[in-house]
Amino acid sequence: MYSLYLHIPFCRQACYYCDFHFSTTLKRKAEMVDALCRELILRREEAVGSELQTIYLGGGTPSLLSDEELLQLFNTIYQHYTVSPTAEITLEANPDDFFRDHTPTARLSFLQNLGINRLSIGVQSFFEEDLQLMHRIHTPAQVDELLPIALEKFPNTTIDLIYGIPTMSNVRWQENIRKALHFGVPHISAYALTVEEKTALHKFIAKGKIPPIDDCLAYEHFQILIHLLEAENFVQYEFSNFGKEGFFSKNNTAYWFGKSYMGIGPSAHSFNGKERSWNLANNIKYIHQIQQGVLPQEKEVLSLNNRYNELIITRIRTMVGIDLKEVKCIFGEDYQQYILAQAEKYLSEGLLEIKENHLKVTRQGKFLSDGIASDLFRVDDFI
Ligand code: SF4
Repeated sequence: MYSLYLHIPFCRQACYYCDFHFSTTLKRKAEMVDALCRELILRREEAVGSELQTIYLGGGTPSLLSDEELLQLFNTIYQHYTVSPTAEITLEANPDDFFRDHTPTARLSFLQNLGINRLSIGVQSFFEEDLQLMHRIHTPAQVDELLPIALEKFPNTTIDLIYGIPTMSNVRWQENIRKALHFGVPHISAYALTVEEKTALHKFIAKGKIPPIDDCLAYEHFQILIHLLEAENFVQYEFSNFGKEGFFSKNNTAYWFGKSYMGIGPSAHSFNGKERSWNLANNIKYIHQIQQGVLPQEKEVLSLNNRYNELIITRIRTMVGIDLKEVKCIFGEDYQQYILAQAEKYLSEGLLEIKENHLKVTRQGKFLSDGIASDLFRVDDFI
């Protein structure tokens, strides 16, 4: 097992755009932490003989856990798993959580002492208007106060930003990026605002309360992002991820390159190279089943086509691209010919290129990479 992921399924407030699994009722938090520890113990055999290279606490909002709850989780991990001394250990955090029971400095020191060495802070925007439109709980002032201290204690800090917000002008988006650069963050994950069904954002757009998403605006924001970050020596090592040399996320890279991972907690997914499994996305049922010693999970053995498709969708978004030799070695010559035939149109349009036997999206093709990937897929009927 290469990576361990823990899903913390609670948030203090629901952001309008979010369709992740979480509950805003925190009253089962302690029971949930007990259940996560039990799942860690129940599944320890899966990681026997391997050293964890990355640990990632995501969600939901892991930073809303108390010191004691985090300690309980880390004690269980270190007691039952072997963690590499150079493991990347990331905690996703919302800025407001650093201003509750402790000072930001005290909380950051606690996280540092726990062994966490990378923070992923959900900034999303430095502007009040954007935060309100997305129903984020934190304020720009909290981010301004937190970021310098966080970067001092955790030089390996990344922030999330959201672009393509319908009311956000190009100028405001540029200002967002400039502010991030001004703080000196070495890594930025930037995502286009998307409208998922069953979210409040979907409802508000349908009712005309929020203007609809404009793909052209998102495209312009994406180009501004690339332009400004490249000028500051950031490498776009994946479609949404930009880092300075030495700050690329080990956890995300492992996922894109097909390393095995174990997901603990409701809705978490796991992958061991051949099989994928996922836990029930229901906090109460998850806790109940774990208390009875039952893993609340479903499994799927991946067909060859599924594995091939997974490789396509993850690698095409990276700067390395799809290794054509690897496609041939893992899946056979037939697959290599298939991908080349499917890629032909995009190669001639300049949206894909082949460099050193790797198929990659070009700069013009970047924004279209999901659509291109789906044309490179194989569906099970083909074999
Ligand atoms: S804090 Fe994160 S997980 Fe929670 S609702 Fe907002 S975007 Fe979703």
